[in-house]
Amino acid sequence: MITRDLDSFTEGPDSTKMPEGVIPIECKHALSRSKLPGLDYALNPYVGCSHDCIYCYAPFLMGKPREGWRTPIGARTNMPHLLDRELRNATGTIGIGTVTDPYQPAEAAVRLTRRCLEVLQHRGATISIHTKSDLVLRDVEVLKLLPGPEVGITLTTVDGALSKLFEPFAPPPAARLEAIRSLVHAGIRTYVLIGPIIPTVTDSDIDGLVSAISGTGVERAMLDRLRVRPGMLEFLAGLEGLHSASGRRFLDRMSDQEYCREAEDDLAKRLRRNGVFVEQAF
Ligand code: SF4
Repeated sequence: MITRDLDSFTEGPDSTKMPEGVIPIECKHALSRSKLPGLDYALNPYVGCSHDCIYCYAPFLMGKPREGWRTPIGARTNMPHLLDRELRNATGTIGIGTVTDPYQPAEAAVRLTRRCLEVLQHRGATISIHTKSDLVLRDVEVLKLLPGPEVGITLTTVDGALSKLFEPFAPPPAARLEAIRSLVHAGIRTYVLIGPIIPTVTDSDIDGLVSAISGTGVERAMLDRLRVRPGMLEFLAGLEGLHSASGRRFLDRMSDQEYCREAEDDLAKRLRRNGVFVEQAF
């Protein structure tokens, strides 16, 4: 059990000691209702995400300017306190990281997600975490104390160079695969989210991807197709990094629905053949 008294762990991180690029902000509510399948509430400790995936559509969804998404990152420092209060009346599954990554680099120093987890553990809440980061392994001991927690790790490719191009500040694929393996080994219900399926990238080494995933021991995969939002094509076409041959291949295919559907079907078939249960993400 976590032994700190309640007052100490519902306290947020010290607002005067934020790392560079992170600003403390206050929220009015910790939990918001979620429309995502299987989730009743959403909990997002941070505003913005410094992983800076070029396909990220969260700023489009939230009506935020794309330029301000990566920096500064807002840390909702009063969230643990509000969460403790709101959990008295909330039942159901809480999705952590539905619009920003709860284990993005700021979390290593700020430990805001960690504090929320401790409150959730104290209240015996049911949670589902979604991240691209192996930093989640830091909190495995707390996760084990929660009732049936679930963790999803996103993987779009096993090629480190392609990942760097599309998800420049997220942990490399090898670290994510290792995180999946460790979570499975720790007995945490784990799935891999292959999403978005990036045309010409995710399918560039499909055998390598499927074999790396099945090698982790994970039994469940969710697939999510790339959603091209208004303004996204123009944004991506303007990125210098996509002027390379691989970038151009992607731009040529990103709106090709037939190609994307075939790539997804092929991936699903191969995963199933390797004993991985496949479902659609959304
Ligand atoms: S990790 Fe998720 S929220 Fe963060 S930039 Fe990438 S897609 Fe967006």
